[in-house]
Amino acid sequence: MADIISLLPDYVANQIAAGEVIQRPASVVKELLENAIDAKATEIKLLVNGSGKTLIQVIDNGIGMSPTDVRLAFERHATSKIKIADDLFSITSKGFRGEALASIAAIAQLDVQTRIAEEQMASTLKISGSKVTEQTVSVAHKGTSIAVKNLFYNVPARRNFLKSDKVELRHIIDEFHRVALAHPEVKFSFLQNNSELFNLPSCSHKKRIANIFGNKTEEKLIPMEEMTSVAGIEGFVVKPEFAKKSRGQQFFFVNHRFIKSPFLNHAVNAAFEGLIRDQFYPGYFIYIQIDPKSIDINIHPTKTEIKFEEEQNLYAILKSMTKHSLGMFQAAPVLDFDRDPNLDTPYDLQNKNPTSEPNIEVDSSFNPFQRQSVNPPKASWESLYSGMEIPDASDIEGNELKLGVEQAPKVFQLLRKFVVTTTRSGLLIIDQQRAHQRVLYEKFLTSLTKRNMLSQQLIFPKEIELSQQQMALFSGLEENLNAMGFVVKLRGKKLVITGVPSICNDKQIEKLFEDIFISPDDEEQVESFSKGDFMAKLLAKSLSIKTNNILSTEEQQALVDDFFACKETLTCPFNRKIFITLEKQELEKKLN
Ligand code: ADP
Ligand code: MG
Repeated sequence: MADIISLLPDYVANQIAAGEVIQRPASVVKELLENAIDAKATEIKLLVNGSGKTLIQVIDNGIGMSPTDVRLAFERHATSKIKIADDLFSITSKGFRGEALASIAAIAQLDVQTRIAEEQMASTLKISGSKVTEQTVSVAHKGTSIAVKNLFYNVPARRNFLKSDKVELRHIIDEFHRVALAHPEVKFSFLQNNSELFNLPSCSHKKRIANIFGNKTEEKLIPMEEMTSVAGIEGFVVKPEFAKKSRGQQFFFVNHRFIKSPFLNHAVNAAFEGLIRDQFYPGYFIYIQIDPKSIDINIHPTKTEIKFEEEQNLYAILKSMTKHSLGMFQAAPVLDFDRDPNLDTPYDLQNKNPTSEPNIEVDSSFNPFQRQSVNPPKASWESLYSGMEIPDASDIEGNELKLGVEQAPKVFQLLRKFVVTTTRSGLLIIDQQRAHQRVLYEKFLTSLTKRNMLSQQLIFPKEIELSQQQMALFSGLEENLNAMGFVVKLRGKKLVITGVPSICNDKQIEKLFEDIFISPDDEEQVESFSKGDFMAKLLAKSLSIKTNNILSTEEQQALVDDFFACKETLTCPFNRKIFITLEKQELEKKLN
């Protein structure tokens, strides 16, 4: 029999290997973004046409490649990141296998341009089916641009496996989120079909999360941080009442790399136990810094799973720190134990019959430091928060704080943040912004049913151009806006504002409408709660007195009066406490 074994040509071997690394357009996005990060870029642009099958391009301002390096980069096992197998245990870069570019080059057509700082000119390459078809020099900024065209053009079987454009784009966005969340210090932009999907300035982790998932996200986050000998862990969990029905907001990063870890996910879930209902998933953004020697990231070709040497310890730390942070958050003074203001029926729903069950349930008596609470809630609450500033129950009747009668209450402003007033037995220190949010929130809610909001006509109507998405959003909000004292009309693509609630001043209008219309990710929120309630919160936040606003004595007094006329005085619409008291006894104790 004749010999039958032959070595596969490189391009076939590369095509086969490519299948492992590049499953879909999103895999290309991930690899290119990670290479840009590894190249120390501070600014990265991602351009995608459609769902990435025709074009994915990543442009970075990183270190670039020399003319020789750039030719090598597209060979299999070509990497600048490790030299020997031992290096695998001290990986600090994203890539290390040297497979990505070779794989992409095997199944697409590439235009590459790259320049290192030391060279005058950039190298420009065209590559198709693993072959460099053209190499020239050109003028370009320092850094690298790689455009990947017609992905899977020579592997039709793969192309046929791709899902709908919508699904593939979703995968791309997910990959983009993961890299962008891991590197908030890097500036990112993402254009799809020439329109901007994301523009993320360099910022903190928290701001990056908000920039990606919507401005409202920031208020939903509870911070946590723990430094141990095993690892440094910091990040945020999403407040239990904002848990979602999907796992879309669950992120672990290890040494700035997004990973999936069912095991660590379990630890966080365990900490949330009792706080959220079945079928809802806690949200978290957790960043773990750990010695690369104590992890193995080499067990999965696409590198989203890793092995930890001290898995058990990590589990315990993560669970307990999450519980602790949730406990701190629960420390908001809920004085009336039978009633959680969050669970109150929004005013505009009070007269309606419930049509569906509420989505989310929060156990308000949950005490994360106690396994099984058999005590009435008050006992556990007292021990938990003893020593914290909580108003004396004797000062509170119903929901009203009784001001001193013998002496007229005095007011003054402190640090441009608090309004301080006297009570019968001490001082009351009110956060001006939160108190005013509460006042406005209740006013707007009432206006939904009573339609009693005074409206003022604008001498010069304001016009705002709306995007398609914003027009859709507007149609859902129009009725509530009218009830709340706005006179608005859609004319073509323009929103024309001719009247606003009288409590709104001219300067606030534009910002207010900006706030109303920036909430892509919060559409879900609009759907799931009552729209009126959502709007009332939004308006209250946007129009309220802010920290640093200087208030006249009359304004301070009016705020205090309005505030005490509120139905609820303990927490602002965003669930933060509004005031603390300083009692005579406390003062005496301090002076002892
Ligand atoms: P790996 O990232 O695993 O090393 P890749 O195939 O992704 O393998 O890249 C091969 C090499 O090409 C990298 O090691 C790096 O030296 C170089 N490279 C790739 N992308 C860039 C880039 N955007 N800027 C600078 N160098 C790059
Ligand atoms: Mg790489």
